[in-house]
Amino acid sequence: MLSNIRVVLVGTSHPGNIGSVARAMKTMGLSNLYLAEPRCEPDGQSVALAAGACDILQSLKTVDSMAEAIEGCSLVIGTSARNRTLDWPMLEPRQAGEKLAAEGSHGPVAIVFGRENHGLSNEELQRCHYHVSIPANPEYSSLNLAQAVQLICYETRVAYLAQQDVEPETEAYPLVEDQERFFVHLEQTLTRTGFIIKNHPGQVMTKLRRLFTRARIESHEMNILRGILTSIDKKVGKSE
Ligand code: SAH
Repeated sequence: MLSNIRVVLVGTSHPGNIGSVARAMKTMGLSNLYLAEPRCEPDGQSVALAAGACDILQSLKTVDSMAEAIEGCSLVIGTSARNRTLDWPMLEPRQAGEKLAAEGSHGPVAIVFGRENHGLSNEELQRCHYHVSIPANPEYSSLNLAQAVQLICYETRVAYLAQQDVEPETEAYPLVEDQERFFVHLEQTLTRTGFIIKNHPGQVMTKLRRLFTRARIESHEMNILRGILTSIDKKVGKSE
């Protein structure tokens, strides 16, 4: 999923920034770097600042324009230090991270950063679905390029991790039909052991149902319980 997120640097002129961007990306689990019409090449300074993230420098793609870098993307978000350069749909960095993480799970998406000296052109900004501006000190709002990349990649990672938390949970619980099968099994076993008297069942099953429902049994726990019931069935079967 994170590999679907392209970090696009437009017109970068400082090789050190390219290295720092690689490091910022790798620390957050992103790996797909594009240089669009760069005004320098990655060099020794880039390697030094990339530290352990040289693999990202080695696999980066250099293209002639931003348009080429965003080809095939379903979502493009542009960054700007200037607030409301154009009247365009704006996102907070947090919302941008959420959109990148959500839409990046379906296919390629891009987050675009501008030139160190004058950012992205209006034409480039107009190619983006949304703009994001990091709410910095209004009197000094322009972050170093790699630091801006770090912040957006961090927000993307936070959103990505939140998604991971939600997904396994929905898988960890048994489907309602499996839960019903468990209750049927429980009732059968308790009837066979004589705990539940067939003609006078009382409220036992209702109370057990409430207990297990309240406990929010996970799938693997339900498997253990089913295993316990089966082991009882075997013993009771033998003694009968
Ligand atoms: N003087 C330029 C600043 C460029 S800083 C300008 O006015 O736009 C280089 C790049 O870092 C920007 O193009 C943007 O991609 C990113 N950046 C820096 N500060 C930012 C901020 N506050 N919000 C969003 N992006 C920022």
